[in-house]
Amino acid sequence: MEIFFWGVRGSIATPGPTTVRFGGNTTCVEIRDGNSFILIDCGTGIREAGTFIMKNRGMGIEIPILITHTHWDHIQGFPFFIPAFIPKNKIHMVGPSMFDTPFDQVMAAQMQYSYFPVNFNQLGAEISYEAAQEQSLILNGFKVTPKYVNHPVRTLAYRVEKDNKVICFLTDVEPYYDVIYGGKAPEDEDELQDFLEVQETIEEQNQGLVEFCRNADVLVIDAQYTHAEYMTKRGWGHTSMDDAVQIAHKANARQVLFFHHDPTRHDNELEKLLDVYRQQVDQLTNTSIVSLGAATEGIAVKA
Ligand SMILES: [Zn+2]
Ligand SMILES: [Zn+2]
Repeated sequence: MEIFFWGVRGSIATPGPTTVRFGGNTTCVEIRDGNSFILIDCGTGIREAGTFIMKNRGMGIEIPILITHTHWDHIQGFPFFIPAFIPKNKIHMVGPSMFDTPFDQVMAAQMQYSYFPVNFNQLGAEISYEAAQEQSLILNGFKVTPKYVNHPVRTLAYRVEKDNKVICFLTDVEPYYDVIYGGKAPEDEDELQDFLEVQETIEEQNQGLVEFCRNADVLVIDAQYTHAEYMTKRGWGHTSMDDAVQIAHKANARQVLFFHHDPTRHDNELEKLLDVYRQQVDQLTNTSIVSLGAATEGIAVKA
């Protein structure tokens, strides 16, 4: 089993000479094993994935697509996904259950005539939807386990398993933190009790994230910011590189790949940051991490 990266950039597509090494397309990845595959997310990277599928896998096929969430950088490539226009193709989308608008309606809304010349209802492929629970399902021979994570909209992380190998994909996720007391000390006994309960819940939730990634052969994890950058961007729904390394270490992950690269992050800067964080990994005692890199467009990583 391997993960192939069609798009690795966070927030907005960033083509150009300063991002060409790691890639400028927004999120789309493919989990592959022989002829079986699953796509995750429909960022701008899915356009090339569609071309590849048409050329190498033909028509009249089943295409499972896992959606992490419906922020633009994760769905905006879908109208350019050619296999969706082909009759007899079957696309099965699994995504988050939403509180207000169901996620199939959100997906369809970006293809209203105000935004796009072809309406969603005109697509040739048969498209079905499934709102994910935190329960495992089998798709194209892969065991897929979704987990809801901390982000400004309902968002899923995915753990994919096959033949005793594990790939975990966590993009657009922020560790839980104290939004109630925000580092302030409790003022009295009553508040102290509440304060302690809040801290315990945060600890439990963050430990849940670690357990979800337990023993991953490949952990692809949101690492949009450095620690310093994160301090001014709290609540935006992303992880610092420092926290990403810590989560990977606690989870006993083997190969770790930073993901959702900031649109302002040039290739040279990302290379330098990788050196810094590799040193951090070297200083960890008893770590399972054997490699730390950055997800790169057009590159596959084996589990
Ligand atoms: Zn994103
Ligand atoms: Zn997002």
